[in-house]
Amino acid sequence: MKDYYQVLGVSRNASQEEIKKAFRKLAHQYHPDKGGDEKKFKEINEAYQILSDKNKRSQYDRFGQGFEGGAPFGQGFDFGSAQGFDFGAFGDIFGDLFGGGAQRKEDLKRGKNIEIQIEVPLEITLKGRSKEISLEKMILCNRCQGKGGEPGTPLNECFSCRGTGQVQQIMKTPLGSFTRITICPECKGEGSKPKNPCNVCKGEGRTRGKESIKIFIPAGVDTNQVIKLEGKGEAGRKGGESGDLYFRIFLKEHPIFKRRGDDLFLRVPISFSQAALGDEVEIPTLEGTNILLKVPQGTETGKIFRISSKGIPRFSGFGRGSIYVELVLKTPKKLTREQKELLKKLKEEGI
Ligand SMILES: [Zn+2]
Ligand SMILES: [Zn+2]
Repeated sequence: MKDYYQVLGVSRNASQEEIKKAFRKLAHQYHPDKGGDEKKFKEINEAYQILSDKNKRSQYDRFGQGFEGGAPFGQGFDFGSAQGFDFGAFGDIFGDLFGGGAQRKEDLKRGKNIEIQIEVPLEITLKGRSKEISLEKMILCNRCQGKGGEPGTPLNECFSCRGTGQVQQIMKTPLGSFTRITICPECKGEGSKPKNPCNVCKGEGRTRGKESIKIFIPAGVDTNQVIKLEGKGEAGRKGGESGDLYFRIFLKEHPIFKRRGDDLFLRVPISFSQAALGDEVEIPTLEGTNILLKVPQGTETGKIFRISSKGIPRFSGFGRGSIYVELVLKTPKKLTREQKELLKKLKEEGI
């Protein structure tokens, strides 16, 4: 699956405005009617369909592939209209072109998103696990509860905007003068300022502090998968909306198993006599228990056996991958006198 953020060339934290902007630019560049690459154009459109829709984007953020796009996740997930070729998106793009993209005071106050990496052992993929993490970030100021003023002190009307929260700017262009209304930079759109700023946060409504957050790492996750926790990023300014927390999974290397997709691979040594006569060999599993593998008589070195449904549980929740066992013949380095005699006899027999 493609990384839609990469397709549009925007960061994972990009705002809806930035996404629209990037899409508009690329759609112009690759439009087939202007001799652009049709395949690329479709891809751009598909990415925009997902990232411009709040629900689809959050689903994609939670279950879609990670930034680097290495992990084969997303199999079995259907993003509905993601495949469709829909010109509907252009409607609001052109509307937006003339709309001017108004500034919102909520955006100015919103806290930053945070991205962290969580390193976990491979065994965690079996059942998933919740984990408590301590995060240092901007948190809501306890003293003023985000309001920015000393408790019990009044608010003053903002001098710059006279309480409206907006100021007018006059822009002179060769086409004439335009009046633009923007958010008051003095009060950031509030229309008022506390008479006495909060002693703790100096009027910001937030302070640096530690927060303990419980996260859940779902079964079947893979390295580079990113999970989103809404509202767990940095606290906003003056009681503004909090940012989101993204945690990216990093699986530690396992001493025995190598993971590929939902399958596990391992090498198991067997002796020549086990291979020649056949035997039952104990194979470890990720759960820590052993499984008996029947090695048939006359097994060659390098032979691979598949043990189904003992691999990684699929992220979709349906079924598990397999364990692939490669049997490797080991040659003894040290032999007792008795063993040498026996092997010599075998040699005489032509074995
Ligand atoms: Zn405060
Ligand atoms: Zn103001």
